[in-house]
Amino acid sequence: MAFPYKKMTEADFERIREITAPERVTVGADIPEDYFHDEMPEYGVFPPELYVEVLNKEEISAIMAYAYGENIPVTCRGAGTGLAGGATCKYGGIMLSVMRMNRIDPIDFKNQTITAQPGALLQDVQAAAAAGGLFYPPDPGEKTASIGGNVSTNAGGMKAVRYGLTRDFVRCVEAVLPDGSIMEFSSNVVKNTTGYDVKDLVIGSEGTLCILTSVTLKLLPRPNFSATLVMPFPSVEECADMVPKILALPYVPTAIEFLEQELLEIVERTMEKSLPVKDGEALLIVMYDAATRDELDQSVHMAAREALRSGALDCYVADTAERAAAVWAVRGSILEAMKLDSVSQEECDVVVPRSQIAAYVKQAKGIAQKHGLRVEPCGHCGDGNIHTELLRGPEQSDEEWHTATRAALTELYALAKSLGGQMSGEHGTGNGRLDYLKDFVGERMISLYKAIKLAFDDKLILNPGKVIEFNN
Ligand SMILES: Cc1cc2nc3c(=O)[nH]c(=O)nc-3n(C[C@H](O)[C@H](O)[C@H](O)COP(=O)(O)OP(=O)(O)OC[C@H]3O[C@@H](n4cnc5c(N)ncnc54)[C@H](O)[C@@H]3O)c2cc1C
Repeated sequence: MAFPYKKMTEADFERIREITAPERVTVGADIPEDYFHDEMPEYGVFPPELYVEVLNKEEISAIMAYAYGENIPVTCRGAGTGLAGGATCKYGGIMLSVMRMNRIDPIDFKNQTITAQPGALLQDVQAAAAAGGLFYPPDPGEKTASIGGNVSTNAGGMKAVRYGLTRDFVRCVEAVLPDGSIMEFSSNVVKNTTGYDVKDLVIGSEGTLCILTSVTLKLLPRPNFSATLVMPFPSVEECADMVPKILALPYVPTAIEFLEQELLEIVERTMEKSLPVKDGEALLIVMYDAATRDELDQSVHMAAREALRSGALDCYVADTAERAAAVWAVRGSILEAMKLDSVSQEECDVVVPRSQIAAYVKQAKGIAQKHGLRVEPCGHCGDGNIHTELLRGPEQSDEEWHTATRAALTELYALAKSLGGQMSGEHGTGNGRLDYLKDFVGERMISLYKAIKLAFDDKLILNPGKVIEFNN
């Protein structure tokens, strides 16, 4: 085992400069504080001892081989937009940024795939696919995340209802193991039952098993038509109950998002963005993609009719790209708005079966209120992934906030489990959810996680203390 890790010396710094280049290496107090945390500083602020920007897999391999020999921990950093406290140096050591490795190869039209280096931004991969007349469907809210980060967290997002998760679009992965070996997991084939499916294990492993150096992604034909509907309901229950009804219609929706009126007011107040319909206690934003105008009209008509039949107060159809963009801009502003409206936030990312959404939302609010917390459940309710944001008020002391969030999270995770759900739907475990993992998955599962980690990383040098903790 690797504890305690080596404290890096000037000789170590010099070796990393030799492998890379002095101008791409920063050490000690010169490392910007932005790299001490991701989007959730609440999940830990940890200074790296050295920060390095790499240009290719050979540099990564040489750094890992050196770190392996010297027992130095290494954490891979993408764009740092994670919401689990994943891309941080919990035990010091090296922060290795792949953001300069951002090449996107031309589309392989015969295989309908695109290959990108890990530092390419999601928005650039989506744009490159669109420029070739094709479509990369995964659509997590943060478009400036890196594609390597998306694969490493198996990012979900709005369009998972129709298209699935990032995992569903990964054909093959090239990666560097903790000892410096360069590996390919799968190849550009549609199916593969050769041995264990290591590619799928690596996807979503949050930088704890290997460092991704290239990903090949499946593309789809681009849908030619799309429309967005906004359906306000008098109550949260009626709103949540609409979700299974939409899913039972013959056309598969692309996205179904849930927002409460209170949250819309926060977005309006802090971001000056609003929706064209404002009635009711909660609303759904529903999107359809279609290959033909006729198919789109049919799907919109059926959904609107079903909504009005089920008690919707209105059904606004954003049938132009501009109107739809204005609706989605409100949805996209939620995280920022909540940050502006609170001292700090706690991210609860549970996922429950779609049939349990209403039960979860109702009980979750009760739990948070019991512990004196403001709560805003919202998000991807088409796949049961309700983000239950706990917001800290100015009057709460550190101790009150920590005690209350801990108690509330313990109950929220127990509630999700009792409803047949899971602790995290898309943001991952990282450092932030680690304390709750053992209770959720049980001892036997933890021992499996440990065995998997050790099979890749016998010295525990890659992103240690994330997803699975050995140091306790
Ligand atoms: C406003 C906002 C909206 C968001 N919406 C969504 C959403 O809808 N759905 C969703 O799933 N997430 C969402 N996120 C979370 C975040 O954008 C995703 O988790 C994203 O995939 C992280 O990518 P990143 O490049 O920022 O990774 P980072 O934060 O840098 O890293 C995340 C994890 O991946 C590892 N990692 C990064 N790159 C590599 C690599 N090349 N090899 C190995 N490991 C690596 C890191 O070590 C870390 O554990 C949102 C975040 C914000 C701020």
